[in-house]
Amino acid sequence: MTDSLMTTYNRLPVTFTHGEGIWLEDSHGRRYIDALSGIAVCGLGHAHPKITQAIKEQSRRLLHTSNLYGIDSQEKLADRLVDLTGMEKVFFCNSGAEANECAIKIARRYGHSKGIEKPGIVVMDGSFHGRTLATLTATASKAAKQGFGPLLEGFYRVPFNNPKAVEKLAQQSDIVAVLVEPVQGEGGVNIPDTGYLEALREICDENNCLLMLDEIQTGTGRTGHWFACQNAGVSPDVLTTAKGLGNGLPIGACLAKGDAAQMLNPGSHGTTFGGNPLCCATALAVLDTIEQEQLLKNAVSCGQLFLDLFQRGLGDLPEVKNIRGKGLMIAIELDRPCGQLVSDALEAGLLINVTAGNTVRLLPPLIVSRDDTAKIAQRLIPLIKTFLDASKG
Ligand SMILES: *Cc1c(COP(=O)(O)O)cnc(C)c1O
Repeated sequence: MTDSLMTTYNRLPVTFTHGEGIWLEDSHGRRYIDALSGIAVCGLGHAHPKITQAIKEQSRRLLHTSNLYGIDSQEKLADRLVDLTGMEKVFFCNSGAEANECAIKIARRYGHSKGIEKPGIVVMDGSFHGRTLATLTATASKAAKQGFGPLLEGFYRVPFNNPKAVEKLAQQSDIVAVLVEPVQGEGGVNIPDTGYLEALREICDENNCLLMLDEIQTGTGRTGHWFACQNAGVSPDVLTTAKGLGNGLPIGACLAKGDAAQMLNPGSHGTTFGGNPLCCATALAVLDTIEQEQLLKNAVSCGQLFLDLFQRGLGDLPEVKNIRGKGLMIAIELDRPCGQLVSDALEAGLLINVTAGNTVRLLPPLIVSRDDTAKIAQRLIPLIKTFLDASKG
């Protein structure tokens, strides 16, 4: 591999040349099951014909004109997202971090509109919101922030899954928003207790704070609903999403309703590439395909099957601390660091990921079948057992 890339990633020694569905093939002709979807991005798998078709058709006509002009597919996609979520307005950008930047700017404007000079945003332990300076400030990981100071003012951190801690802060007059992931992804697939989002909604209502949900990872069907907040029946003031929306084309969105939807006006925010015809036409095809192929239902059913199979195969091992999931966001938490399993699995022809040091994470494509699910579990369970045996003592 070349030395010309900045060393921001420790890459695995494999390069994929093409894929189809849940399968990827590398430059030596070896085939792998992709149980990670490019980190929750390729929900429709690789080379889905509907997505290829949408990209082909749009690229033949128009790629980019800028936001100085009307963009038909952008308008259609905004209408579609508004319909799916009950939000009112959408800003399109190119990534998750940018969607959260927009949310943070909305929160600050909202604060200033109420005469608050230094608006504060509540964020959580274990959170991940991106790598730009504002979203890095909102992110919990100390390692990710190391050496990048000075970071931003106006962020207040509390424990995740603890409404009381949020309530205490929200009563402070300078607090204007609460930013939280409905299920923490990078933090280790942390699923809060039932009632958590409802409690945050109530606290925000009582204190005139914006509830801002980071659904960059949990959005676009990942948890078995279009958006994870719909599991809880909670409607936020701001909702950000990205990863799965373009199935690999870069697109993010910040959705808002009520006062939050009125905070940005011409000149106050913008983007050159965001919401371009190609990405929006593709995202529309993604949403259509999820609907046509009933992939929300599939995410629920295969997600449950994963949990059942892992419970049956691993649940009795004392080294397995917890098996949990929401739709196709699945975690197996071990009692020890298990980064090694990523390369073990790669060698066995399976792409997985480890987060929070000791948690095996699967983010399979939404198109995964029940047979695929069984096949993935069959490959992974013996790997975990062997790993645990080998790392004993
Ligand atoms: C991936 C992720 C982000 C950042 O998205 P980028 O596209 O990498 O900027 C933000 N929030 C959550 C919850 C994520 O999973």
